[in-house]
Amino acid sequence: MKPELWRDDSPLRVGISTCLLGEKVRWDGGHKRDRFLTDMLSRYVEWVPVCPEVELGMGIPREPVHLARRDGAVRMLGTKSGEDWTRRMEAWSARRVRELESLCGYVLKKDSPSCGMERVKVRSEKGMPKKEGRGLFAGALQDHAPALPVEEEGRLNDPALRENFIERIFAYRRLRSLFEERFSRGRLVAFHTAHKLQLMAHSPKAYGSLGRLVASAKGIAPSELRARYQGEFMAALRCSATRRRHVNVLQHCVGHFRKRLEPEARAEIGALIEDYRTGLVPLIVPITMIRHYVRRLGVDYLAGQVYLEPHPKELMLRNHV
Ligand code: SF4
Repeated sequence: MKPELWRDDSPLRVGISTCLLGEKVRWDGGHKRDRFLTDMLSRYVEWVPVCPEVELGMGIPREPVHLARRDGAVRMLGTKSGEDWTRRMEAWSARRVRELESLCGYVLKKDSPSCGMERVKVRSEKGMPKKEGRGLFAGALQDHAPALPVEEEGRLNDPALRENFIERIFAYRRLRSLFEERFSRGRLVAFHTAHKLQLMAHSPKAYGSLGRLVASAKGIAPSELRARYQGEFMAALRCSATRRRHVNVLQHCVGHFRKRLEPEARAEIGALIEDYRTGLVPLIVPITMIRHYVRRLGVDYLAGQVYLEPHPKELMLRNHV
């Protein structure tokens, strides 16, 4: 199976908290522009900006809100007036998230009582803050689409988390294409085969479990099959691809053409994988060498593996992990 079969040139539509794009929508009329998102990632994605507080009609500037516990429940309250926005924000979010179902991912503003993905401060009845909440809109979004790749801009400064998130948004688009266009069980088998090494780098256990699901696909209703495969596939990619697992996958790749290499070339590629294992070189180094041999020797099976190019190389994500 060639990777082109999974190529999808439709716009990669990704939701984003509007203030991260540099729009002056924050409570004080400011913004929180994030350069990586606006200058780099914007070349590959079509941003769909959403500012829950502005769309709800809270205005700019506005009284800031925070999350606070009242009678056991988390409420969204004006910090000075105590005005309760909870019901209005929840009702608006429930409607809005249904309009966002075509997205392939979402980047949220951390710490916001509306947009924060996790560890948002919630004040106790006595006013003590505890980082235990989710923004009301962010919570509705994640509950509505649990498989959707979601991240906060702060976490995207970590190279491994950044690579993982971008890998997931491209994977989610391929998965959507699989189920939306001419879906058949044969295509599911081909999709699963093309993602074997990518899944192995994240979770060999999940690869096995998904394989059993695919093998029993004939007895499962298409809607159930889609929900289960999508949920398990995206959960597998959320597991960090560790260095040890990458080394296993790299060695597996080389096993497909090792016997056709001259002894020096065999030693060279083995040394590169070892350098990656010990942290001397980034993942892109052995991957580039393997891609070279896959092309030169015409190793069709590996040419069809998404693992060797899961996202545009221009993003240089594997230069830092
Ligand atoms: Fe708007 Fe969310 Fe940014 Fe707050 S964090 S300004 S609600 S987009």
